[in-house]
Amino acid sequence: MIEKQNIRALNEEELIKWLANYGEKKYRANQILRWLWVKGETSFNKMTDIPKTLIRKLEESFFIDCITIEKYIQSYDSTVKALFKTYDNFFFEGVVIPDEKRATACISTQIGCPIKCKFCATGQLKFQRNLTVGEIFQQVVELNNLSVLLFNKVITNVVVMGMGEPLLNLTNTIGALEKIKMYDKINITDRKITISTIGLPDKILELSRINNNIKIAWSLHSPFQTIRESLIPIAKKYSIQDIIQAFKVSKFKQPITIEYVLIENVNDSENDVKELIKIASQFRCKINLIPFNKIENCDFTSPSLLKIKTFQQKLVEKNFIAIIRKSKGTDINGSCGQLANKFY
Ligand code: SF4
Repeated sequence: MIEKQNIRALNEEELIKWLANYGEKKYRANQILRWLWVKGETSFNKMTDIPKTLIRKLEESFFIDCITIEKYIQSYDSTVKALFKTYDNFFFEGVVIPDEKRATACISTQIGCPIKCKFCATGQLKFQRNLTVGEIFQQVVELNNLSVLLFNKVITNVVVMGMGEPLLNLTNTIGALEKIKMYDKINITDRKITISTIGLPDKILELSRINNNIKIAWSLHSPFQTIRESLIPIAKKYSIQDIIQAFKVSKFKQPITIEYVLIENVNDSENDVKELIKIASQFRCKINLIPFNKIENCDFTSPSLLKIKTFQQKLVEKNFIAIIRKSKGTDINGSCGQLANKFY
């Protein structure tokens, strides 16, 4: 028996070659790719302008790496978290965050995460595999369907901040984002996309060469190398200064967002804010302060609101844009990985 191939892993050239083997015309590739990426179709049977004989051949040779929503839960603040199941029975999460004007899809790029940050529920999960282009793309399709159903709003922004380190799955992430821009039910441009990374200098440079229009968020979390290494084990490999250098050399058009999860007595002191100011002064950036959101098997707590506001004020006094980001969906295990870990 011939092993079926994942059709969403094929590019146009490969599909044309496959079609030629069956004596099919070149333009059929375009039709099929349109169904897959512009319409988001996941069933060969529904490709109405493809002849039945060709549909049978497609079904014999290919499968579509579909994901399905296993369940979704909605927070009192409207945030919706979806639990996705892959064709090979893994689970991962995606989130819709609606506000007055927008609906943001927060998507995953890996199942589990090899980075293992100490403050993150996904970091507690075993890393299983990278998500494919089709799986990353289809998350946005499914989250858009949910957003329309629940909020009557299409997805307006995509943030790659769910499970996984996107730059460790760069090819599939970029491939999927290109397809998301093709999807006809939403209107996503590069400026509406943010990729969040822990900071891998070589990959930052590679990404900026591929696409310097998208926004980048850097998860810094401590301005001190040793504290950062205790929070993010992979940080041992890359010094803060090397990451800053990568941002300086890269040609991203938008300012970098520094993400800073505030953890009581870990990274919330006056010394921390002073060092953070030194780092933020070295390139064009703004700062998001995120009060730590409680997760299981972790003793960290969030500083008091007063302490968080004092921290913010010190940044604002030095003319930085520093925003306190409220944790969304805390009642539905809003932090990434908190829902999926119930299914591992
Ligand atoms: S914060 Fe991001 S990089 Fe760190 S473990 Fe969680 S998903 Fe991975």
